Amino acid sequence: MQKKLFSELGLAPELLKAVARVGYEEASPIQSQAIPVLLGGADVFGQSQTGSGKTAAFALPAIQSVDPAVRAPQVLILCPTRELAVQVAEEVAKLAFFKRGVRELPIYGGQSYERQYRGLEAGSQIIIGTPGRVMDHLERGSLRLDKLKMVILDEADRMLDMGFVDDIRTVLSKTPPERQTVMFSATLPAAIRNLVEDFTHEPVHIRIEDQALTVPDIEQLYYEVDRRAKVEVLCRLIDLEDFKFGLIFCATKMMVDELTEHLSARGYAADKLHGDMSQAMRERVMARFRKHAVEFLVATDVAARGVDVDDIEVVVNYDLPQDNEDYVHRIGRTGRAGRHGKAITFVSSREFRKFQYMLRAIGGKVARGRIPSAEQVEQKRTDAFYDLLRETLDAGEYKRHDEFIEELLDQGRSSTDIASALIHLAGDADKPRHNGGAPATAAHSIEIPRRESRREDYAPRFERPEPRYSDEARPEAIEFQKKKREKRVFDEKPKKNAKRHNDDVTPFSHEPDMVRLNFNAGRDRNITPGDIVGVIAGAAKIQKSDIGAIRLLAKASYVDVRKQQAAHVLEKLQGISFKGRKLQVTLAE
Ligand code: ADP
Ligand code: MG
Repeated sequence: MQKKLFSELGLAPELLKAVARVGYEEASPIQSQAIPVLLGGADVFGQSQTGSGKTAAFALPAIQSVDPAVRAPQVLILCPTRELAVQVAEEVAKLAFFKRGVRELPIYGGQSYERQYRGLEAGSQIIIGTPGRVMDHLERGSLRLDKLKMVILDEADRMLDMGFVDDIRTVLSKTPPERQTVMFSATLPAAIRNLVEDFTHEPVHIRIEDQALTVPDIEQLYYEVDRRAKVEVLCRLIDLEDFKFGLIFCATKMMVDELTEHLSARGYAADKLHGDMSQAMRERVMARFRKHAVEFLVATDVAARGVDVDDIEVVVNYDLPQDNEDYVHRIGRTGRAGRHGKAITFVSSREFRKFQYMLRAIGGKVARGRIPSAEQVEQKRTDAFYDLLRETLDAGEYKRHDEFIEELLDQGRSSTDIASALIHLAGDADKPRHNGGAPATAAHSIEIPRRESRREDYAPRFERPEPRYSDEARPEAIEFQKKKREKRVFDEKPKKNAKRHNDDVTPFSHEPDMVRLNFNAGRDRNITPGDIVGVIAGAAKIQKSDIGAIRLLAKASYVDVRKQQAAHVLEKLQGISFKGRKLQVTLAE
């Protein structure tokens, strides 16, 4: 199905800006077809599956049609339920963000009339309501439709199923005859056909066919994950399955940026592709991905179109794809050339309904996955370490420390004690060793000890029998417990000494409360001070005011940070990917 750019549809600049801000990269098929027709003024009857983007398809032309100078209802959107009315109102608000003087107002049963009167009196131009409550306001005289230009029936078939047919007919008959009429419905039963006949004028019928799909033969799993737990769950799956090469899809550029940052901060070699990047940048990223210098490529659908790599192990739908077709395109990136591939889809509560529709179209070949517990991941790390230890012993390729060990044995310590202590040290190498008495920053205070937080917050939540669950705020605590991966922990090499560059700078910072850190990246990487502030603020979540002077050298940089934050910054930034290299931060002596 052909999709178009939003800029090709005749939308005003302020709406294009809003679309970009929301992060939609291109118009969905129903949007591509309906928007130009609606902007042209014709009535439309539209049929397309759930999740295909109908809201923006009618909301954008509706917003464009509003004259901000007229403070009276100009657009009426009828929705079957209050939840939908609220959702549509939210989308309208987002899309009208840059159009000044446009106000939207949801009106639905259960909310006080007072508030709704106030909104109506304030001159809201776009009214989004359930038929019953709209009828009430019409009868009370608080809602006047004489200035109405456009009426939209969203999910018309559902409204009829819910018995709103008489209300709808009454409301429609009270709107000016020259208004534009838009109806959207997933199905076209006789009752809808009658409505269309009675209330539209030469409607353009737009139907987006469900795609006939051939799903590649790869293992598909879905996980029910609350929005805010996605990062953590993703990392667990990567660690447990030991994925080393994957493509991760997000819905918007913003999400791509965010997730890439989170993954980098957790020590994965992640990079991104999205529409805001120049062609040259994208090619550079692609080249590094192809060479496996990037383990995980985070991308939007559009940007990923050019990704043509054969050996991708796993495709992750971090956000649900826009439609079934996109789903198939996405997962088709793995399991190529006869290889085994895996597709993982995260479904949040908000997306569950949409996903159920998708599952039906995809043919139920997607199994439900269980989120691994922190203990499982931990166990896996331990096992991997034992294996590594055995290999190393077998190969005999390690420096001997006989004298030191003899000394310990002479002191009466057993060999098993010594070895256990060493394993303990190796396994704990990623835990913060010191925090320098740092006061809790905003980021610090949300972290609670890792074990407790994980066990409590995960296990029960995902075992709910009902697919519907709330998306309410989860405890901040679980957010982003950063952890490095097992292989980084065990591979850790002694840090390079910062002294090399010391001839170039005074040893200590000028500001009394600051210490100087050495970054292994400088002008050779086209780094700006802004990049450095960005990476520190992003990964260590400290205030800009805690960052002092920054000095760029040829191949390194000196960065002053507040003394109390230094240990934290050192820990959080170590090993994350920064300007195409693994960052090493040391204390400049
Ligand atoms: P429908 O009403 O057809 O069921 P919605 O309008 O509710 O679908 O849209 C479904 C989801 O897709 C929403 O989360 C919405 O934000 C998102 N969406 C809509 N249009 C686009 C687009 N052009 N690109 C990306 N996501 C989109
Ligand atoms: Mg809808």
